[in-house]
Amino acid sequence: MRAYNTLPLDDDILDRIFAFISDFDTLRSLILTSKAFYSIFQAHSNSIIRTIAYNFVGPALSQAARLVRYKSRKLDGNDLGDDVIENDESKGEESDAAMSLKTSDVLTLIESHTVVKKLEDRFSRKRKDRSFNSSVLTPLESWRFRRAMYRIMLFVEMFPWTAYLDDYDDAAVKRVIIQHQTFLDNFLTSELQELYGVALFVVELNEPMVWTCNGYHRHSVIALSYGPAATLAAIEGIPDNRFFEELMDSNIPLEEHDDRPSPVHDYLLRPLGRVMVKRNVTLLNEGDPDIWRVILDSVVGEHDICQSCSSSPGGFNLRNHTNWDTLRLVFDGPTGSGVWPSLRGNLRSNILEMNNYRIICARPFDYPKFMQEMFGLEQVKKSSGWKREDWLCENCIKAFLYMHLHFWMLQRKKEAGEVIYEDCWYGYNCKTQTHSMDHAERYNHFCEPTRPE
Ligand SMILES: [Zn+2]
Ligand SMILES: [Zn+2]
Repeated sequence: MRAYNTLPLDDDILDRIFAFISDFDTLRSLILTSKAFYSIFQAHSNSIIRTIAYNFVGPALSQAARLVRYKSRKLDGNDLGDDVIENDESKGEESDAAMSLKTSDVLTLIESHTVVKKLEDRFSRKRKDRSFNSSVLTPLESWRFRRAMYRIMLFVEMFPWTAYLDDYDDAAVKRVIIQHQTFLDNFLTSELQELYGVALFVVELNEPMVWTCNGYHRHSVIALSYGPAATLAAIEGIPDNRFFEELMDSNIPLEEHDDRPSPVHDYLLRPLGRVMVKRNVTLLNEGDPDIWRVILDSVVGEHDICQSCSSSPGGFNLRNHTNWDTLRLVFDGPTGSGVWPSLRGNLRSNILEMNNYRIICARPFDYPKFMQEMFGLEQVKKSSGWKREDWLCENCIKAFLYMHLHFWMLQRKKEAGEVIYEDCWYGYNCKTQTHSMDHAERYNHFCEPTRPE
């Protein structure tokens, strides 16, 4: 039947064409450029959105739709927290029948899915196969990861610590802590183990975020309460430190003590642990590699060894040009000073160059660009022992920097148009550079020694 269109095709066929669209941008282009498609869309918008949403998100759409609908109700001022948690239909919130989405939900779905997908890419590279920047999880592994991530995002939406910013009240927090458990108790044990694994992965990603505010490991668990989207933003270079500032300035206890509850202490992990204890299930310790087995059926390269020193452990701690961005985990610790300690001889104590370094290597430091430049140095090319494709352990990367970093520093000064003075006889081993500003200013020390000290 051709009720809605002027094309020489039945409405049913046009309707089927919608079923092959895999993203909302394509849908938008289609309905904007064709009146026939627009009419069909208007007549069947719910089913078309649902079909494309499934193509876009995959089988975790049930969990994604639940999150999106919850956010939408919150925006409308209808926080249905208790209903969603305590209603017997809570799990039904993820059922196929409940997957309907409105046109107004599409933007939230796209935003949420973009976060989940990017985090899946990170997870894949960190735990599945370090050689690929995009996810190589199998469809089943991807489904487990995504549904767990969407559930974590929903938990964060339902139990925001910001609810107590102005009005912290022990009794209210105690009630909500019970609700945490009620919410989690709706899931199967295997699903809770997936949730645990994915939550620990987000905590791991949070570690660098808390360095910037003098945090420590427990803070990266607390940061879980800020949500995976904030974690991703921090990794991508736009950390939102207001989180910690607001939290630290509030009356909310970070730790639970003397019967005073905390809504952020061991956020999500603790209620999850309590539900598991009730079910007589032991959760694996953080750091146990088997934690990821609940998500992954197979892992690639976990036992690989360094291609330079052939020592172990290697696996996911090995790096080459595909994952140089992760070097900040090696060099930018809470008290880390970047690559400066890798400088040779007495250069680390050169009173002039120390200041230059702070300017050249200001954070956020671009490690991929830096390593690209390091491997582009003439001295490295001549040495022929180092290749950007080789998978290296941390010790070998540090050894590589130790041998060549001073050449890179000299190159940066030249490119900045600075005058390069005569080489000091003692090169990087010179002791005078560490206490005489006059000497440090008059000689170049980013060079090989030509005389012994
Ligand atoms: Zn090595
Ligand atoms: Zn000197």
